[in-house]
Amino acid sequence: MTDTIDASAAAPATTPATEQVTAPVYTVTQERRIVTAIPGPKSQELHQRRLAVVPPGVSSALPVYIAKANGAVLVDVDGNQFIDLGAGIGVTTIGHTETAVIAAAASQLQDVVHTLFTITPYEEYVRVAELLAEHTPGDFAKRTVLVNSGAEAVENGVKIARKYTGRSGVAVLEHAYHGRTNLTMAMNFKAAPYSTGFGPFAGDIYRAPNSYPYHDGLSGAEAAARTINYLEKTVGAADLACLVVEPIQGEGGFVIPAEGYLPALQEWCTAQGVVFIADEIQSGMARTGEYFASTHFGLVPDMVLTAKGIAGGLPLAGVTGRATIMDAAQPGGLGGTFGGNPVAAAAAVAVFEQIEKGALLGEAARIEQTLTTGLRALQDKYDIIGEVRGIGAMMAIELVEPGTGSTTKTPHAEAVSAIAAYAAQRGVLILTAGTYGNVLRFLPSLAISDELLEDALAVLDEAFAQLAR
Ligand SMILES: *Cc1c(COP(=O)(O)O)cnc(C)c1O
Repeated sequence: MTDTIDASAAAPATTPATEQVTAPVYTVTQERRIVTAIPGPKSQELHQRRLAVVPPGVSSALPVYIAKANGAVLVDVDGNQFIDLGAGIGVTTIGHTETAVIAAAASQLQDVVHTLFTITPYEEYVRVAELLAEHTPGDFAKRTVLVNSGAEAVENGVKIARKYTGRSGVAVLEHAYHGRTNLTMAMNFKAAPYSTGFGPFAGDIYRAPNSYPYHDGLSGAEAAARTINYLEKTVGAADLACLVVEPIQGEGGFVIPAEGYLPALQEWCTAQGVVFIADEIQSGMARTGEYFASTHFGLVPDMVLTAKGIAGGLPLAGVTGRATIMDAAQPGGLGGTFGGNPVAAAAAVAVFEQIEKGALLGEAARIEQTLTTGLRALQDKYDIIGEVRGIGAMMAIELVEPGTGSTTKTPHAEAVSAIAAYAAQRGVLILTAGTYGNVLRFLPSLAISDELLEDALAVLDEAFAQLAR
């Protein structure tokens, strides 16, 4: 392990910029391998221990206990290897235990682990803020505050927008997901399981219709007019601090809005003095083949929220916004004990460096191509696949009841559960999504090879065939 770290740490200094990036060396063979029943005996034993001490509110999609993860493969305690199409919900975007990330974090652990940035600061925090200023859309002065989680980033974005505008209203969209804290529970579209019984909730949240072309059939302009009309009539722009949107809705089922929808919302926000906040917590950090998905839609948000993929698996999140807006918060008003932890920040710097020097953005396009081709082929065979959609390594299929694909498009959640369960038994970890639980989402690491994707697609084909029988 030490050798690997040394080699990688020395690489940037000695490798000429023009030289090809060397192929990654994996410590786990990049293949699917099932050697026991799923879950295996050791996972089952751990699961019993867990049930005695961890509440059921924290549930696991697949209770196989992971002992090692590398590249795009998870290895469980029984020695089974899974192709990981979830990447911890889009967190290990550049790969599990990525060499440069591990090296940067390990080196930082030797130097300083914690000081608290609001007592005595350190360079890594500043460097992450510089990188976010450079890589988020928009050529203007920006500031970044670092926090610990996506939900905390959303909370801070709203807080700052309220202070800047002197208004309190917060607009969100149908099918949105923003977290599990008190404010963000109120911002989510879906009550169960996220907020059922957990009230009272934060007020002044307004949920406007979104653009969901597969279901509403509206053009971007029509959907935007509907959203804006709702906000003007139900809230009134004068009371709105911000509109928070996911450029591609994550938990909502990778909904890609119709062309022109998001730019129209941004234009309206700008005209009305409403802060336009892009929640890029799931869609950001190279996942879609751009640093941020906003770029695909021509957006230049006033504020961009990051988390998930930013630090290669270490907990870190950020709120990056126009200096004029961010500077509204008074000294001492922002921060928190662990926010922008040096180890997580050092890992984030390594993630940015890997994206900058490697071909990772291109890898997202390759993955989109391979998955789109494979999933469309499945759609031709199985009529319950209503739609194939997505950008980069953020792809999804929406399943509908047989024969409803061109009529009611009735959600088919049981098929999604059955297929995810079948795939897991055969060593493919695939996540579900969607307000109605009828979406299978593919958000693998950008390190995943076409061979692994093809292998996973073959398993999916078997799963659909099994279901059709
Ligand atoms: C995951 C997610 C969040 C919440 O992030 P946490 O780190 O789980 O708090 C917020 N918004 C989006 C779009 C997400 O995908």
